[in-house]
Order: sequence, then structure tokens, then C-alpha cells
Amino acid sequence: MNSKERIAKALEVSTDTKYFDLEQNCLHKASEVFNKFFSGRKALVVASYETWGIAGEKVYECLKAAGIPTEKYVFDETLLHALWRDVEVADKALDGDLAGAKALEEDPSYQEGDAQKAFRPASNEYSIAVSVGSGVINDLCKLSSHHHGQRYLSIPTAASVDGFSSFGASISYHNAKQTFDCPAPIALLADVDIIKDAPKEMTSAGYADLAAKIPAGAEWMIADLVGTEPIIPSAWHVLQDYLNDLLSDPEGVAEGKPEAISDLFEGLTLSGFAMQAAKSSRPASCCDHLFSHILDMTDHTYHGKPTSHGFQVAIGTLTMCAVFDKFLTYDFTKLNVDECVAAWPTLEQEQERALKLFKDFPAPKLGYESIAKKYTDADSVRSELTTLKAIWPEFRKKLRNQVYSFKKMQDLFKKAGAPYDPSMIGVTRHELRDMFPFVQLMRWRFNVLDLAKRCMVYDDLVDSVFAQGGAWDLNEELPIK
Ligand SMILES: [Zn+2]
Repeated sequence: MNSKERIAKALEVSTDTKYFDLEQNCLHKASEVFNKFFSGRKALVVASYETWGIAGEKVYECLKAAGIPTEKYVFDETLLHALWRDVEVADKALDGDLAGAKALEEDPSYQEGDAQKAFRPASNEYSIAVSVGSGVINDLCKLSSHHHGQRYLSIPTAASVDGFSSFGASISYHNAKQTFDCPAPIALLADVDIIKDAPKEMTSAGYADLAAKIPAGAEWMIADLVGTEPIIPSAWHVLQDYLNDLLSDPEGVAEGKPEAISDLFEGLTLSGFAMQAAKSSRPASCCDHLFSHILDMTDHTYHGKPTSHGFQVAIGTLTMCAVFDKFLTYDFTKLNVDECVAAWPTLEQEQERALKLFKDFPAPKLGYESIAKKYTDADSVRSELTTLKAIWPEFRKKLRNQVYSFKKMQDLFKKAGAPYDPSMIGVTRHELRDMFPFVQLMRWRFNVLDLAKRCMVYDDLVDSVFAQGGAWDLNEELPIK
């Protein structure tokens, strides 16, 4: 199946996005696509200082030339993260108050407004956002359009994340990164000629974000096995059937080869479609992303700056590949289910553990609340482990087929230009090890570490990753440059 056929099929399962064009030299189609979905409405091209010059101006001219009433809003600074202030700025710009938006962007005494009060009454007078930029600009336009009860057109300039086509926007609000519910763009116009010229570290970050779907898929298979989140076939097949192929040219990604960049962007977009089909982020992330969430929540910086989502996820992904390498060596056909059930803690014990662990964490109740959501009692654990024991040889094969070895993944990241050691994002191996208990507990979603706890191999499993000869051997700590 070629790319066009894959995309046509994917558009059948995507619930929000109705149009996805991925080809070289296609910016000139912006007016045609705009009119297809928003005929008669005003357009507002939203860009950052950099992306205005890269593609924003061309899109603006194209819309104007077609007779579409068009304005522009260009953010003055490089946007590393989407902040709530930027959402309010975009909201004002879509209202039509461009001067007010600029004043707000520059207001030194700005204070965050109430997220609940950002919704506007419906009106055809608002402009329609035409987002030209990377993930941040896209997220701002996504949420702001939702506040106006309307959809938008996204024109990405980098293959940096899978968020272009996903449901929800990731925004810093009240000092914490939060995901706000909002529909994905109705149309995506992706010009490979623009995307291939994005800074290399953005593209390699996107490669790692796509590679995360390898261990995330394996953890979904585990959640399916215990029945907490069954695999949704349409959401699984839309990406996982092609994922190996789409990851197969890391050198091409590093070199900015159009075919490789096209495959990468397609994979990231299909991942968003998978989330649309599943109505959750389950197809796209599990523990691989939680390491990144911890770094965000604890305001981790490297060389004075936050590290990109994809770079953080690269380290989480490698770590989870190492976890699976060890997990798949256990012989669970010999599991002593009675012993595991007898050792299984009560919910109260688990909540106490969570409270102690998260005591000094920015969200002290996070583990406590998550464990309450995902705790299962001893009887359920017995049935989960009985199933695992019965099907282990076959299930182990399926998992091994799904998840790459640590070595293979690390080799791909080296070739793609993504980080392949935690020191490369300013994290020590010791710090990474300390994140494990948080990763296991911080989300309601069932993960491989939960299963390892039930099987009484959790400590051995985590130790092996950091032991002599392990993926992140603590005695081989690389210096942080
Ligand atoms: Zn991601």
C-alpha cells in the first residue's frame, strides 16, 4: 500500500480530520483547501516570528490572491512551550482584536485568566485560524478555535511531534502542563519541501516521538491482556501495520531526504488519527512518555532551556525497550500465582506508598489518585496472572515481534540524530532510575511495570536496566556536557 492509499484509509477512521494532503510543493493549495471547508469566512494566518518567513507569508499571499479576506497574527518570540497567555492572545486575534492581542502578548503585568471563561458565543464574524508552524502554534490554534466553536486549517512546518492531528492541546496553565480537550484540525496541508528544511533537532525529535509507538504498542497489548483497555482494531491498524516501514530510514531523516521526511510526517499524523479513532492517547503513549511528563513537571532544563518533547521521549522509549528486553526473559509459565496473590498489597497500602513517594513532587496526590483508579483486588490479580501464565509462550512471541531491542532502537536513534543516552538531555542514569517508581504510579493507565509488580519481578526488572552490562549501567554514567 502506498502513502496515498494509507492516508485515504486513515481518513476513514479519523473522526475530526477530513483532509490530509502530504506532498512536495503544495502550499499553493492553501486557498483551495480553505474554501473547501470555510467558504465565505475570514482567514487569520497565525505564525511565529520564524515560521512567518518560512511559510506564513506565502500562505497569506495565496489566500489574499484568491480573494479570501485575510489577516495575520505573528508571535514576536520563539515559542518553546504553549503558555496560557499565548492561548488568550490567539483568542483575541480570532475575535478580530489584533491590537488587543499584541498588547496582551507584551503586557508586563499579565495575569492568567480563567480557562473556563475562555469560550465565546458562536458567530460567523470570527476569523478562521490558519496555523502555520510547529506543534506549539498548532496547539494554540487548536484550543483557540475550540473556544470559538469552530475548526481550523493546519499547515505544519516541522515533523516534530504527533500532536498536529491529535485530539487535545498541551498548554502550560497554573504552572503545570495540561492537556485541554479540543478537536484536531479539520484539514492538514503538509508541504514536504517546507518540513524537510526544519531544524534537524526538530525532525529527529519527531522521529523519537514516532518510535515511542513501538513500546507503547506493546504496553497496549498488555493492557488488552488484562482487559483494562482492549485494543481497538481501527486505531491499532491505522498506524501499527506500517510503523516498522515508516521508521526504517533514520539516515534519510537525519539528511532531510524528502521520502524519509514524508514517511515520518505521515507516521506522526497517522498516530494522531489513531488517537482520534481510540478517543484516547493509548495508541501513542505509555511509560515511554511518562519520563517526559516527570521532566516537564519538575521544570527540567538542559543548558538553561527545557528539552523538547521528542528528545525526552527518546530516552523514555529507549528505557522501555530495555525494560522489555529483560521482561521477555522471564518464564511466566512457571509463575507461582498463589505466592503472587498472597503478596499482593491492599489498596490502602498502595495509597500509603504513593503518598510517601510523591510527598515532595509538584503534584503530591497524583500517585494516590492514580493508584485508586487502577488498583485491582487479589481475586482480579489471580485471574490476570492465571491468564498470563497460560498464554505466556505465545504472548511473549507477540511482544517480541512488536517491541525493538534496546540495541536496535539505540542504533536507530544514533542514525536519526536523536538522543541515545540520558546525559544528552542533561539527565543522569541515577536520576532516571529514581523516576521508575513515579512512572509506575503516576498514571491510571495499566503498564508493564504494573504487570511486573503483580509477578513479583519489578525490583529485579528495574535493577537489571541499571546493573553492570545493563542498558544504563550505573557505573558507565556518561558525563553531562
Ligand atoms: Zn509524544
